[in-house]
Amino acid sequence: MDVFLPPGRIPDRIGPLKRFLPPMEQGVVTRALEDLEPGGDVVLDPFGASPQLVRELAAAGKRVLIAANNPVTRFVLRHTLEPIPINVLQTALAHMATTPKDGSRMEPFLLDLYRTRCSRCGETISADFFVWDREEHTPVLRAYACASCGLAVEEAATEEDRRLAQSFEGRSLHYALALQRVVPARDPDQRHAEAALAIYPGRALYALTALMNKMDRLSLDAGQQPAMFALLLSCFDAGNALWDHPEGRARPLQLSASAYYKEANLWRAMERAVSEWALVDNRIACDAWSPGKDPEAGGVALFPGAVRDLAPNLPAGSVDEIITVLPRPNQAYWTLSALWSAWLWGRQTATPIMAALRRRRYDWGWHATALRAALNHARPVIKGGGPVMAFIPEAEPGFISAALAGFDKAGFAITGRALRQDMGQALFRWTAASSVTLPIEEQVLAQRSKAAATDLLRSRGEPTPYAILHAAVWSDLAQRRLLSSCWQKVGTPPLAQVGDAMESALEDRNDFSRLDPWSEIESGSYWLTNPRRTEPPLADRVERLVVDLLRQFDALSAIEVESRTAQALPGLLTPDRGLVLACLRSYAERQAGMETWRMRDQERREERQRDCDQIGTVLMDLGKRLGYAVRKKQCIEWRVSKGPLVYRFQIQASAAMGEILADAQEPRLTLVIPGGRSSLLNEKARRDARIKAWLERDNCVVKFRHVRRLAADRKLRRENFAECLVLDPPEQQDPQMRLL
Ligand SMILES: [Zn+2]
Repeated sequence: MDVFLPPGRIPDRIGPLKRFLPPMEQGVVTRALEDLEPGGDVVLDPFGASPQLVRELAAAGKRVLIAANNPVTRFVLRHTLEPIPINVLQTALAHMATTPKDGSRMEPFLLDLYRTRCSRCGETISADFFVWDREEHTPVLRAYACASCGLAVEEAATEEDRRLAQSFEGRSLHYALALQRVVPARDPDQRHAEAALAIYPGRALYALTALMNKMDRLSLDAGQQPAMFALLLSCFDAGNALWDHPEGRARPLQLSASAYYKEANLWRAMERAVSEWALVDNRIACDAWSPGKDPEAGGVALFPGAVRDLAPNLPAGSVDEIITVLPRPNQAYWTLSALWSAWLWGRQTATPIMAALRRRRYDWGWHATALRAALNHARPVIKGGGPVMAFIPEAEPGFISAALAGFDKAGFAITGRALRQDMGQALFRWTAASSVTLPIEEQVLAQRSKAAATDLLRSRGEPTPYAILHAAVWSDLAQRRLLSSCWQKVGTPPLAQVGDAMESALEDRNDFSRLDPWSEIESGSYWLTNPRRTEPPLADRVERLVVDLLRQFDALSAIEVESRTAQALPGLLTPDRGLVLACLRSYAERQAGMETWRMRDQERREERQRDCDQIGTVLMDLGKRLGYAVRKKQCIEWRVSKGPLVYRFQIQASAAMGEILADAQEPRLTLVIPGGRSSLLNEKARRDARIKAWLERDNCVVKFRHVRRLAADRKLRRENFAECLVLDPPEQQDPQMRLL
């Protein structure tokens, strides 16, 4: 069940509405497709949430069929695949700029809404943005660049600024116009629309209604219309109070104003929108879906609706694969989408998502039910045994529960899982099977939770964060089709039932210990109370793999290193990106001006072996000089002549800790490592509370150079050796070393 989760890179150009679209890395889908059986070419994406996914599917030559119910996402999808040429965007902007408005033109009219006075030269200028205090409901800061005197500053807003801003507040004509575009007068949904509008400052609504009214009146041709929609859409997003100042939440989920939010200058936002939409990617043919016609190879057919409405129009078995990015419930985005769709395309187009206006809360149980309903419709259209692959780029336990429960209940049998925990990236695979209901005993969930968690901890060989244990338990239950059975039994998505069973299993101190008991259960890290038959610690295996790769290849990019380690350690062993990078930094350096890394010369095998041998000799000699009986076995031992063992030195070139943690002899080992390993050891200690505790008990790690320094110190005596051993002069210390 454990599969390879390819790493990707941040896309070169992210495009519009990026804070609401799934943060899919570039290249992940392309690489993951290579692991599917060849053959299928008609792919259904039932959610149409990620332009990045669709672009890569099409680039791989698939015939991509997309159900996209949200008109905003659909528009972004379409014009990401078929980018609007920059000159068309510029023409649309110029058109809007010069259109007459109140005896002036639109551009100066909008700029004037944000007028402020330069604090140095007194010139009236248009501010770039104001910052509002949500509680005071007034602007407190202003940012501008004065063209007259050159002052560029962010400073306190003035009384004049506040008066101007306040003059747009209240329910005046522009407010009524903005509302009317969303709901007719006296509509029961009016209060929901009002609640959504409240996320816009009055001045933004004033500017936006001015823009929308002009848009309605401009006679735009079919080529220019999408460009105008695009610019306005970016403006709608720039204009709301979901922009923290200073930058905070990057991906808003709830429609609530930030404590301090940026009020953007909306003409400036229109100007910026041009570059947001002017994507340079290759054009991918994107047609409206039509019945009985497959999309062309490498092309996309876009269905303007939900998969439940598309599926009945598709012949059974006409889809080879389902590949998708699962959407995350996002109250902010869905509510705004309803608003924006109505503003741009009218209430009719917005109808399918108007329900989003009414709903304030989405929980994971709701999401499981929604996924199940959508997937139920998709199942009959997929060819028997056809693969299903879903990416979750913002994975968290609740999301994974909802996905696994939803798929299981809709009749899909899980075949693959992978989680890169520190990046919150997950990948799951299924095949279309049938809905299964097994009789389910009370105890079985807790028993399976315990078994799955134990197996996972043994295979990782190290304390493991809750999120990974959660994925192990849920995917184990899904594999046994127990999620749908449990759902059937309780009549609702079994999130609470499975959650409780798992929690009670993990809280049994006979089986599991929580290494940071003061933290919340979901942020804790767990280990076996009696570890037996465990693999070596995962972190040590990752380090080993990275070193082997660096020895094998002259130069490698970080993404290649990450990819190869993730292939060797798939599924729920997928190494954290932070750990892979820590290993890379410890042994290699990035080549100047390039993406590739090379192993440092002193880390070459022969060099390091020589180092270790030499340090061994130095320690043997030093022991003798201090009058100890010395011996070299697995480690170097210093013993009082005919007396007790006093020191045991373990010399190693790596930061491997598995054997050291397992060593139970007295006296405790002193670990002797190259200085370059210390930040990696710190990273391991951050991940593994056992290592942290081992390091904290007393100073037990010595770097090679300190051993050499001690050997050169002629004043060193047996009496002051222990004291000197722990003295690593600060100027020699690695700035990242906190624990050593
Ligand atoms: Zn000035």
